[in-house]
Amino acid sequence: MSRDDAGPVDVDQPLAVGVPPAPHDASGERVPTRDLSGLAPPPRPARRWTPKRVVATPAALEHPHGRRIAERVAALGIEVERLRGNRVTGLRGETARETYARAKSTLAIVVSPPSRRRLQPIAPSADWRVDLAEGCPAHCQYCYLAGSLTGPPVTRVYADLDDILDGLAAVLVRP
Ligand code: SF4
Repeated sequence: MSRDDAGPVDVDQPLAVGVPPAPHDASGERVPTRDLSGLAPPPRPARRWTPKRVVATPAALEHPHGRRIAERVAALGIEVERLRGNRVTGLRGETARETYARAKSTLAIVVSPPSRRRLQPIAPSADWRVDLAEGCPAHCQYCYLAGSLTGPPVTRVYADLDDILDGLAAVLVRP
């Protein structure tokens, strides 16, 4: 008898009649388990990322949040370079590998582009998303960011946090 002939499933009845329930397996089938904890590498404390270079655009430093970020960075003993213009420059190296390494170790304090201030749909995991930063300093080989962000993969943090939150408030109070 095929599943189609069997009629609707009665969810109150066990699927595997006469088989002792095994909490680790949904079908009730007995599954051997092994303790593999001895093979696991010992836990290591998490490392906090510290950028080698921090740059800030003039527009970003006009925002209180941008200045707060710069002050926190300076308190860690890292110099904050003030860029001459509002484009992030100086990331290109001699080779693509050098450009990648430079960008991944740089934090840029910038003002978010207008397109980023709009709520962006992100189905099916959530209704929408809003970005407070862009990029990531990690180097996971499977990461889709490397192919989806344009230009060198620098981590950007948005200085205009107050404007971003104000924009959200306007959307969230809408009936
Ligand atoms: S997958 Fe990409 S975004 Fe996630 S931690 Fe790795 S490099 Fe960063």
